[in-house]
Amino acid sequence: MTLPQDRSILSGAGGSGKRIFVTGGAGYIGSHVVRQLGEQGYQVLTYDNLSTGNDWAVLHGELVVGDLADSEKLWRTMARFRPDAVIHFAAFIEVAESVRNPLKYFRNNTANALNLLEVCRKCAVGALIFSSTAAVYGIPERNPVQEDAPLSPINPYGAAKAMTERFLADLAFVEPDFRYVSLRYFNVASADPQGRIGQAYRNPTHLITRALKTALGQFPRLEIFGTDYDTPDGTCIRDYIHVEDLASAHLAALEHLFHGRSSGIFNCGYGKGYSVKEVVETVAEVTGVDFPVATSPRREGDPPMLIAGNEKILRELSWRPRYDELRSIIEGAWNWEKIYLEKMKS
Ligand code: UDP
Repeated sequence: MTLPQDRSILSGAGGSGKRIFVTGGAGYIGSHVVRQLGEQGYQVLTYDNLSTGNDWAVLHGELVVGDLADSEKLWRTMARFRPDAVIHFAAFIEVAESVRNPLKYFRNNTANALNLLEVCRKCAVGALIFSSTAAVYGIPERNPVQEDAPLSPINPYGAAKAMTERFLADLAFVEPDFRYVSLRYFNVASADPQGRIGQAYRNPTHLITRALKTALGQFPRLEIFGTDYDTPDGTCIRDYIHVEDLASAHLAALEHLFHGRSSGIFNCGYGKGYSVKEVVETVAEVTGVDFPVATSPRREGDPPMLIAGNEKILRELSWRPRYDELRSIIEGAWNWEKIYLEKMKS
């Protein structure tokens, strides 16, 4: 396999050559973070089994194709690279699939996270950033939901992530040299503004991507899962965050840990919610395509409403979102879907 060339812009800012080991760096969110790390002068090694990621998406640093279940390879790779920090993305991401196949999720998202933590301890890694999710809250009593709300996941995807958060908390409690940041993602969408990378799943299930691909004629219709929720228009409400802003939250979290600050958990979202119907209408406006839409029964495992309380990340990580607008999120995603379609043809 040929490794992708280093096409990063090494500005030398921020990163000062620190070494970051990224699991899942060939995936959707991971590849945007790897690109931003390169732009900020970090050295990066991506460890990814390419089960859902793509080698062409790794725009900076080294790619090692390996599985988190392979502790020996993971250890050899990490021991050679000697990272200053680890960012852990590699995981499965579909709520509905996790309901159908829970053990798949506990194996990859929990047991493999445990492998990673053991290897991190062997390699004396002192800083880790974890991709968590709003799904740990289940059906929150209040929205926007704050980080100290009770964790009561309603699907195996959220439960597997909540368990890994517990591992991290317990480890940090006994290991004074180990600190972590857990970032609880809300609904991530859109793409690199320069159109180099974006969502490239073989079987996408996320709303904005499904709607755009329906507008491109790749699916016969968009199904709206549930119109009888207790929300103003009866469809689920989510807080959609641009992948560039989510990526910059990871760099802010790294800086936080490198400045010696304490472990923490942060919601990543804008504090604003949109219903499925509002998203579908905006996709129709942006694309100019009146694509077929059908209403379907509720999807297993979907909470009615998830909106991020984001005061903590704004305050403690000095995170400053730049793309906080649904229409431009969808415009960016639409631009990418057209590029990706051409890419797949060639
Ligand atoms: N959704 C939908 N049709 C689709 C995909 C998703 O109605 O084809 C709904 C889904 O039921 C949920 C919302 O859109 O209420 C967001 O789902 P998505 O899969 O994008 O993200 P999740 O919130 O599950 O992480």
